[in-house]
Amino acid sequence: MSACLLGKRVRYDGGSLSVNDQVVARWMSEGRVVSVCPEVEAGMSIPRKPAEILASSGEDVLEGGVDVIEKGGNIVTDNFIEGASIALGLCRKFNIKVAVLAEFSPSCGSSAVYDGSFSGVKNPGMGVTAALLRKNGVQVFSQYEIVEAEKAVHSTNG
Ligand code: SF4
Repeated sequence: MSACLLGKRVRYDGGSLSVNDQVVARWMSEGRVVSVCPEVEAGMSIPRKPAEILASSGEDVLEGGVDVIEKGGNIVTDNFIEGASIALGLCRKFNIKVAVLAEFSPSCGSSAVYDGSFSGVKNPGMGVTAALLRKNGVQVFSQYEIVEAEKAVHSTNG
C-alpha cells in the first residue's frame, strides 16, 4: 500500500492521507500490508516540490521520452522510475499480487493523473509506479476501490 494511505507523513507537502476501512484494518492485523512510498524510497525529500507527468502517463514515462517534472521545471523522471523499481522489488520479495495505491499521484495514481500544468487538471492514466506494477502482473487499485482489492486478494489466494 502507498505509505501515505497508512497515515505516514510522506506526501510532497509533508502530509498524509488515510483509509478508514475495516478491510484495511483487518489486512493490517493479519500482517498482510507492506508499506512503500516510491518517491521517498528513491531519495526524494519530505517535503518536496509537487511533481506531475508532463501531458502523459506513467506507461509513457517507462517507455522513455516523457518526463516527470517538479513545479518550477526540475526533471525528476529518474527518481520516479527508481521508486517504481523499488516498489516492484518489494512485490517480488513478498510475492505481492495486489496493490492499493493513492489515486492521482504521479507515482501511485491508477486511473488518472495530473496533466503537468500544475493547474489541477487531470488526465486518464497511471502514475509511474502503478504502471510498472501492472506491467508486471500486479493488480493495482486505489483507496476508493478497497472492495475490489479485497476480492482480488481472495481470487489470488493472497
Ligand atoms: S509517492 Fe505514493 S506513497 Fe508516496 S506520498 Fe506519493 S502517493 Fe503517497
